[in-house]
Amino acid sequence: MAEKIQMKTPLVEMDGDEMTRVIWQWIKDILITPYVDLKSEYYDLGLVHRNETDDKVTFESAEAALKYGVAVKCATITPNAARMPEYNLKEMWKSPNGTIRAIMDGTVFRAPILVKGITPYIPTWTKPITIARHAYGDVYKNVEMQVPAGGKAELVYTDADGNVTKETIHEFKGDGIIQGLHNRDESISSFARACFNYALDTHQDIWFATKDTISKKYDHRFKDIFAEIFENEYKEKFEAAGIEYFYTLIDDAVARVIRSEGGYIWACKNYDGDVMSDMVATAYGSLAMMTSVLVSPDGKYEYEAAHGTVQRHYYKYLKGEETSTNSVATIFAWTGALRKRGELDELPELMAFADKLEKATVETIEDGIMTGDLYLLSKLENKKKVNTKEFLEAVNEKLASLM
Ligand code: NAP
Ligand code: MG
Repeated sequence: MAEKIQMKTPLVEMDGDEMTRVIWQWIKDILITPYVDLKSEYYDLGLVHRNETDDKVTFESAEAALKYGVAVKCATITPNAARMPEYNLKEMWKSPNGTIRAIMDGTVFRAPILVKGITPYIPTWTKPITIARHAYGDVYKNVEMQVPAGGKAELVYTDADGNVTKETIHEFKGDGIIQGLHNRDESISSFARACFNYALDTHQDIWFATKDTISKKYDHRFKDIFAEIFENEYKEKFEAAGIEYFYTLIDDAVARVIRSEGGYIWACKNYDGDVMSDMVATAYGSLAMMTSVLVSPDGKYEYEAAHGTVQRHYYKYLKGEETSTNSVATIFAWTGALRKRGELDELPELMAFADKLEKATVETIEDGIMTGDLYLLSKLENKKKVNTKEFLEAVNEKLASLM
């Protein structure tokens, strides 16, 4: 075999849980280390080790991602009540994704992986739609109350000098509910820059939409910040790259997205991004065919799959039963990270390897070899369902022929 591809800077490797942890190791053994002299700084974010380190390992891994600039993350368990006895946890540790997102102050970009034989439910969507979700504030950091009849709700702001501004929200004749939301100019600005940078990076148009006709201060602020940053920092770069920034009302955006052929980034406020990314993922076929990358405003990247640890398959695996778990999104997390590392370190061979591994993965499915989830969706006539490891081995056969 030819010499292995060399790396310069290590990738920050964040291992995870359950079925995806099993797949993680297989991807490395079967598809990566035979070809690449893998340099990685390894962090075990598996729940057992998070618990042992009082979750310090999660914080350390995020700091390492900021230091080195590129990380690849396996899906991890976010503990709930059921996980407390299962893993004998000291605490119900927070979601690692939330922790990493907060430290990297990042925006999450999610894009589907398209393959022939699997038609999106919206047949005009022939190119991927990438959703960029603002990951701070609004309803996710809300304060809410359920209130009895007869009172008055007010919005009160006390400034640094103690001056008070007040607005009546509602005078309640009957029982009701109230909710307080906020966002920060700084966070919205980071979001805008992450979106514009990613558009330049991936050479795609970017759309942004809010409900600024109804929310004349709150949503309007998002619109203004985007417009100002675009005008001052990105307009010329976009013109040079031949791409566009397009703002519209959220209602109009939804209608246009449905009629579109894809091939752009759709920047969404936090709630819109949460809901629309599920809609878009489903319409393209499967969460297991969705890539996800967290990008910090100063250009640090963390690549992952959009799905979870596939717990149900893991329990089958533990019982020695056959599984047919889709590894595509996790493979693409690796290729995304390796390609970005290659780009930053000027290693064209590493970038070419990432391209070849993606090509081998897509062609394997297009040749009819696929896991059970895709087998149900694929319209290919010669399709064949394989188990988790057989799929990786089939991809490797193709990859070897491309190398
Ligand atoms: P999940 O792991 O995404 O799986 C939900 C179901 O979707 C699976 O049972 C399976 O359906 C299908 N599925 C998802 N990924 C698949 C794949 N790669 N191949 C084939 N089928 C796939 O979500 P979950 O069961 O709600 O969560 C399990 C754990 O993952 C939880 O502890 C949660 O905290 C964690 N989680 C982590 C992340 C992350 O780290 N990014 C994200 C979400 C959830 P069938 O069973 O019908 O085959
Ligand atoms: Mg959601």
